[in-house]
Amino acid sequence: MSSSKKKFKSGAILMREGDRGDCAYIIEKGAVEILIQKEGQLLQIGTRGAGSIIGEMAMVDDKPRTATVRALEDCEVLELSRDEFSRRVDAADPALKMVMRVIMTRYRDMIARTDGFRIPTGVPRAEDFENDDKIRDVALNAIKIDHDLREALKKDQLLLFYQPIIDLQKVKVAGFEALMRWKHPEKGMISPGIFIPVAEESGFIVELSKWALGVSCEAAKQFEKEANPTLITDKPMFVSVNFSVKDFSDRDFFEQVQSTLKTHGTRPDQIHLEITESLLMEAPESSKTALEKCRALGLPISIDDFGTGYSSLSYLHFFPIDTLKIDQTFIRSMSSHEGSMVLVKSIIALARNLNMQLIAEGIETEQEARIVRDLGCEKCQGFWFAKPMPLEEALKFIKNWVPPQALNRS
Ligand code: C2E
Ligand code: CA
Ligand code: CA
Repeated sequence: MSSSKKKFKSGAILMREGDRGDCAYIIEKGAVEILIQKEGQLLQIGTRGAGSIIGEMAMVDDKPRTATVRALEDCEVLELSRDEFSRRVDAADPALKMVMRVIMTRYRDMIARTDGFRIPTGVPRAEDFENDDKIRDVALNAIKIDHDLREALKKDQLLLFYQPIIDLQKVKVAGFEALMRWKHPEKGMISPGIFIPVAEESGFIVELSKWALGVSCEAAKQFEKEANPTLITDKPMFVSVNFSVKDFSDRDFFEQVQSTLKTHGTRPDQIHLEITESLLMEAPESSKTALEKCRALGLPISIDDFGTGYSSLSYLHFFPIDTLKIDQTFIRSMSSHEGSMVLVKSIIALARNLNMQLIAEGIETEQEARIVRDLGCEKCQGFWFAKPMPLEEALKFIKNWVPPQALNRS
């Protein structure tokens, strides 16, 4: 017997935690979620899409499944039976068996390193590979963060900090970027670099984004109301909110955005959407639809960390984009590496040609501010102007800021 094709309807269970696994699946179409039992509840710890293999480890080492897998949408999979697999392995010569073992160890190691918190289905129970404990620790830590994060949202431990975005030509405040913070009662302030990837993986990011949008809408109104008119540009002041590609795959995303704006009485031009280019490329079709609807409503769209993740420039035409945010790694090495300077210049020229705006990120020195301004970049943000700060401080900033003299043109 060999492999066979199977179909699973959305919501159907492909395998259950604790079951003996006697086959693996290669997903050809659709997506699945990986769930584990925790305190009597099913907790999502990851998702897998077309091209992924699931359930292979339990099949290989004859241990119970360590996770439940459920179809997120209608799926078509290729089922590989253990018989078929064993027969091939048994028939293989010792050298090939050895190669397989090495590949599997590397595979686990790679997941632990690059993919931190993800548990590949079926992996953690095998004792014969030295990386299992490490993988399990990383995975359990992520599950704990995800669990605590859900509590944190309920207990008001999450807040947004705001970093001013400066119009470099006018030396005025154009808006703010909203950046999430977790004020943990014991651990203190936890960086979004730790908890956002976990929330993106588990899907909880969708709840976080909804919350962040609501809070940002309120902040945007306050900024507009309380700003010193001489410190701001003549364009509407905005709050730029970070989104994840999972938000866009949520069918109600656009309706949610629309109703949140309405509830808070915030105009679309007071909110900008930010998404990193690498996330965008994970689900280009659904992202495009969501972004186009938002754009049509009047919400400007920025590509975050521009220059760090793309494989092709053609996507710039594919998505409705208003602003490119030049990643801070280019800014950092701009003054010391001619290559980075050339890249920054090229990004600026690219934006000009495509009629897009530019924001330079991570400006830490006067020199960097001058360079990007003189190259024609409209806006920037960075510690040299201000660090992200709580709302009260940001409101003070917009009333009392003293623009740096150094940028006055003589
Ligand atoms: P990002 O969107 O690229 O945000 C910019 C990051 O650079 C922020 O880090 C900010 O504090 C930092 N930064 C700003 N100016 C400077 C500078 O001059 N020098 C240096 N070295 N850093 C600077 P933060 O706040 O730790 O956020 C990290 C990342 O977490 C963000 O990167 C974003 O990807 C993610 N994130 C933060 N808040 C949210 C959120 O509400 N939703 C989502 N989906 N992601 C968020
Ligand atoms: Ca951002
Ligand atoms: Ca960025």
